[in-house]
Amino acid sequence: MTDICNCKGLVSSISEYIDGELPPELCAELEKHMSECENCTIVVNTLRKTIDLYKQPTPDNPLPDEIKSRLYARLHLEDYMNK
Ligand SMILES: [Zn+2]
Repeated sequence: MTDICNCKGLVSSISEYIDGELPPELCAELEKHMSECENCTIVVNTLRKTIDLYKQPTPDNPLPDEIKSRLYARLHLEDYMNK
């Protein structure tokens, strides 16, 4: 079964993970969890694909927070965060 508590903890790290800002040990933890959790895998894949659409060619031009929060709202990540 899916560990819901673990999901909630990891979802808050997903944007950092996609940005490549997550410490390696947390990356490993997140990837391990995703291998067992379809829900988080879908969230990461969807977020990553959507961010790719917005990504500028320069690596030091991060995704605006406004777009991130819109993505989060669309993916219902706020449900995870606020519960
Ligand atoms: Zn999960």
